Amino acid sequence: MAKRAASPPLIEVRDSPLHGKGVFAVRSIPKGTRVIEYLGERVSHREADRRYDHKDANDNHTLLFIVDSRTVIDAGVDGNEARFINHACEPNCESVIANRRVFIEALSTIKAGAELTYDYQIQREDDDPPDLDEVFACRCGFGGCRGTMLWSQSAAPPVKRQSRTRK
Ligand SMILES: [Zn+2]
Repeated sequence: MAKRAASPPLIEVRDSPLHGKGVFAVRSIPKGTRVIEYLGERVSHREADRRYDHKDANDNHTLLFIVDSRTVIDAGVDGNEARFINHACEPNCESVIANRRVFIEALSTIKAGAELTYDYQIQREDDDPPDLDEVFACRCGFGGCRGTMLWSQSAAPPVKRQSRTRK
């Protein structure tokens, strides 16, 4: 690994008006910047289910990032600041999977002080509980808010879909 230059940080974690804690730009982040890698323990889907299936309805699900059919990143274990990035329906970042690693990249230039967001695009599954929409309700407040972090299985998303289940 190349030695990292002592550049000032791009982001900081603090309370978010959207939800809980969020991640904010400390200085302007140019479009296309690879802001941060989404880190955490890499586990199987089976193990991820075992860890979170029995929890009450809460946000723990959103600590999980599906890399492919074999691997889920659990940011609840050894996660970094990326786990605090909130969902928004009209986000300024996107998740990019490269070599089975997950990175958050800027979709547009982000002004200093702005909150970083990406679309979680959580996939619905056949055995979802009936209150799933409430669990993943979105109140991001953007004009294009879908009211949910979920994609329906049939509806085509309006933008390029991130492959969250396979690569
Ligand atoms: Zn929304």
